[in-house]
Amino acid sequence: MSELSEFIALNSIKGFLADDEGCALRDLAVQTKALGPCLEIGSYCGKSTVYIGSGCKAVGNTLYAVDHHRGSEEHQLGEEYHDASLFDAAHGRMNSFPEFNRAIAAATLTDTVVPVVASSMLTVRDWATPLGLVFIDGGHSHESAMHDCLSWSRHLVPDGYLAVHDLFEHPSDGGQGPYLAFQAVLNSGDFNFIKQVNSLGVLQRK
Ligand code: SAH
Ligand code: MG
Repeated sequence: MSELSEFIALNSIKGFLADDEGCALRDLAVQTKALGPCLEIGSYCGKSTVYIGSGCKAVGNTLYAVDHHRGSEEHQLGEEYHDASLFDAAHGRMNSFPEFNRAIAAATLTDTVVPVVASSMLTVRDWATPLGLVFIDGGHSHESAMHDCLSWSRHLVPDGYLAVHDLFEHPSDGGQGPYLAFQAVLNSGDFNFIKQVNSLGVLQRK
């Protein structure tokens, strides 16, 4: 990592991103300054945010971090990836925003990251800023992944990057929503395949 604060923050952040995937995202973010700001869907406790944000900070770019912070289906009470420490009992719901804020502050990224506490659907409705990098890691159902990939990829500038997490070609390895959505964007003919790192796929707009 470029800064000790980011390194310390990364080791203590809960999340679902492998280090090779995070480093690939950070490298992409470093390349985007001339293209436009970065945006991620699905921040959770800020792991991907710190990787992408540290790349943005290095070149003076901005990261919009979109998450309603209410968790995906698998994070809800009684589900496989529920974390009781993120459950707000007073309001009866998940809330990852306090953890997210802690991580961003610990990584000294408060002047780089713009938290958008809202759903992807609401945020994209009036979105008009051309983007240099979009990272999709929100809801993993077919419907959510398809919506996120198709609606946000439209906002990428030529040469801008679309990165999608949790690509599993075989159903036995994981849900097919992100994989099918990634293929749908590729089949549009508007993007070139760049690489896959672990379960992270990267396309570049023509
Ligand atoms: N990128 C994170 C993991 C994201 S987990 C990491 O590096 O660890 C998925 C996140 O997507 C959850 O925090 C959930 O609240 C969010 N999410 C799910 N559906 C969403 C939607 N429709 N709009 C915004 N955020 C959503
Ligand atoms: Mg993921």
